[in-house]
Amino acid sequence: MCHTSHWPDFPSPGIVFRDITPLLLEPQLFHQAVERMARPLDGREVDKVLAIESRGFIFGAALALRLRAGLVPARKVGKLPWKTRRLDYTLEYDAIHRGDRVLIVDDLIATGGTVQAAARAVEEAGGALEGVTVLIELSELDGRARLPEDVDFWTVLEYP
Ligand code: AMP
Repeated sequence: MCHTSHWPDFPSPGIVFRDITPLLLEPQLFHQAVERMARPLDGREVDKVLAIESRGFIFGAALALRLRAGLVPARKVGKLPWKTRRLDYTLEYDAIHRGDRVLIVDDLIATGGTVQAAARAVEEAGGALEGVTVLIELSELDGRARLPEDVDFWTVLEYP
């Protein structure tokens, strides 16, 4: 499976933007992507899917339906993930309860700062982190190293 496109030097020099929208246009690929993200969770209980703005919302919503879990859309502060590490988890809605088993979902992991912030927010809310799943991993940046040590991490596509 492939069909993401890439845009060198966007939105700033040195960043290669990986665009998942071509994949969304192909129903079979989109379906396959969601299935492959969901498969490792088969047989595991997930109460909430915490989906990260904005492309994480797309996969997060699909996974929440597939896993019969609630959906918590988590917004980034500042909108430029490579410049900010803060997330606003709409905790004012009391979205995650103590003991909830939470799966974090995003389209892509780069430096890992975003999912690290998400993992912290889950922990602060008293949730139990069931795992982190992303469609794309930029492996040379080793973002997975920023996740808590014992947390399960799954990815479908890998780019350097
Ligand atoms: P990071 O916190 O560095 O792991 O960045 C991950 C978040 O930023 C995800 O929500 C991605 O959607 C977005 N992102 C970071 N780098 C890229 C990239 N090269 N292409 C597309 N999205 C990216």
